[in-house]
Amino acid sequence: MKKRNLNKLALLILDFDPEHHGRHLNEAMTYFIDEVYPLLGQDAKCVVNICGLALLHYKRYGNRNDGFKKFKKMILEGKIIIGNHSFMHYDFTGGFLQREETPLSEILVELCRLDELCGEEFLMYPNCYRAPYFNINEDTRQLLRDRFRFDFNGYIKISSVYEEDKVIEKGDRNYRINTNIVLDSQSWQEDIATPSQVDLERIGRYVVSAHPYEFHSSCNSYKETNENLKLLLNERIVFVSPEDFIVN
Ligand SMILES: [Zn+2]
Repeated sequence: MKKRNLNKLALLILDFDPEHHGRHLNEAMTYFIDEVYPLLGQDAKCVVNICGLALLHYKRYGNRNDGFKKFKKMILEGKIIIGNHSFMHYDFTGGFLQREETPLSEILVELCRLDELCGEEFLMYPNCYRAPYFNINEDTRQLLRDRFRFDFNGYIKISSVYEEDKVIEKGDRNYRINTNIVLDSQSWQEDIATPSQVDLERIGRYVVSAHPYEFHSSCNSYKETNENLKLLLNERIVFVSPEDFIVN
């Protein structure tokens, strides 16, 4: 019988978006790799949901201090688990940016382009997914079911207290780790730092959603983000892969 893991587990999910109000995204990612990741502990794992535009930009301009090289190495070593965050970062439902809904055929192209880019760069395809702005419709979900194992959609509310069976929905081969709340354009203000979604009330299992730049001093709320991280580290949290998060 498998020994039950009594460690407190956390799943750190970062969205690598193409732009965020002109912030220094490349520097922020390299900062995460150099300064934040080493704090997470031995063999820490995290998910980075990659957007194609961000990845291309990082590859082209982000190699100061070997940033991109180290990013790639961490992926190949399994420290960073890659997720598909689409190629262009359109809002597929149109809701957040108040545009037309993206046709399913185009959504498929968006998913494939990112998969192919990861295949070229890292010789692997993502098995996680998060939609831009967390917005997703039922048709898209059908597409996801066959392509990915983990669906990180839905918005994790700051005040949520998760029951174990509500956080994790198990399907045949897919897992959704979320609270299934659709994000609308009014609900997400710049100053609500997503790392506040750290939930310290739970029974030793935490989901932390953030952007890499939120740890970096170019972000208004970086102090709060780093404080939250410190709280978790004080609790001797182990940062695990989605697989281990589900299984243990
Ligand atoms: Zn995003």
